Amino acid sequence: MIPVCKHCRKSKVNRPRGLCWTCYYTDGVKELYPSTSKYARRGVGNFTGNAPLPEPTSYLPGSPEKMAVLELRAKLKQALWHPLDARGAADVPPLAAALLGRAG
Ligand SMILES: [Zn+2]
Repeated sequence: MIPVCKHCRKSKVNRPRGLCWTCYYTDGVKELYPSTSKYARRGVGNFTGNAPLPEPTSYLPGSPEKMAVLELRAKLKQALWHPLDARGAADVPPLAAALLGRAG
């Protein structure tokens, strides 16, 4: 089976990202489809060296809020971890603990 273009679903795929020639070179189309190459840059990038410390967060490790904080820190090229970040239930501020208790 010959794969068809992800965008127009008519032409044969002959460009990267599963697109046909026409769609790939049409302004704005290829940006709609992520690269399928294993060598492509993904996420917000990586860097080495010392990075400035971010503001500490009280969000718990593994929570969606903490993941968002980590993403933001990476975008801002800050250190991902702060020594005063919350590490477990004991570090949750009283208000957050009350809210968590009510939810569970
Ligand atoms: Zn197409």
